[in-house]
Amino acid sequence: MSTLEIRDLQVEITPGDDAPIKILKGVDLTIKSGETHALMGPNGSGKSTLSYAIAGHPKYHVTGGSITLDGEDVLEMSVDERARAGLFLAMQYPTEVPGVSMSNFLRTAATAVRGEAPKLRHWVKEVKESMRELDIESAFADRSVNEGFSGGEKKRHEILQLGVLKPKIAVLDETDSGLDVDALRVVSEGVNRYKERENGGVLLITHYSRILRYVEPDFVHVFSAGKIVESGGKELADELERSGYVRFTQAAV
Ligand code: ADP
Ligand code: MG
Ligand code: MG
Repeated sequence: MSTLEIRDLQVEITPGDDAPIKILKGVDLTIKSGETHALMGPNGSGKSTLSYAIAGHPKYHVTGGSITLDGEDVLEMSVDERARAGLFLAMQYPTEVPGVSMSNFLRTAATAVRGEAPKLRHWVKEVKESMRELDIESAFADRSVNEGFSGGEKKRHEILQLGVLKPKIAVLDETDSGLDVDALRVVSEGVNRYKERENGGVLLITHYSRILRYVEPDFVHVFSAGKIVESGGKELADELERSGYVRFTQAAV
């Protein structure tokens, strides 16, 4: 049983030589094993900033508040230590890693997280099986990470990492964006398998409620202007689908 606890989190970014801009203005969120939290909000409200702050991206400066995982101070950890502690981030815009094959990348990541290299024969079987579940062609294993991947292929690759790395808490940033219905179903099934097998906690960041028909949230949070302005159950996502974010963005100003 794991708990990720975010308290009054304040985050700034410094674009180029400009003055720092405050993006997160006091975020409170607690995610436990087995829980799925959907974080929904308009573009530019700071959803990705929250995911980067959890992952430890150096551009995002935490100026106040705390993040702990099972009581351990996450903000004190390096990016690698966060991954080893059981945090996982699937980015909205996954980066390309030319010259590094997907299978090598995955094995390196698994070695880092598990603290030892997976035994080769077992490993090959494990990855093959995970790729099959996600409808990823075997030729993919030899391709450079994300280079020339379609949007859908990048997202499948992220979910492949999720299945292999088995984090305690997974942050999935717009894993649904740019997916056609078939890819959305495959990716959602991957997330649901992770939930079932690992009893993982999920923070599902999304702009649209479409994915929530496949991955059922226990809690829905509305994000606006750098903080959570309302929390509720599934019905809140239905309301957002009907009426949009206007009621919440007005309240936040
Ligand atoms: P969301 O994911 O909800 O669309 P983001 O967290 O991406 O929101 O962005 C929140 C705000 O911070 C936006 O106004 C965005 O322009 C700004 N921002 C985020 N990252 C950067 C960055 N690296 N440089 C400059 N501005 C940024
Ligand atoms: Mg955005
Ligand atoms: Mg975003």
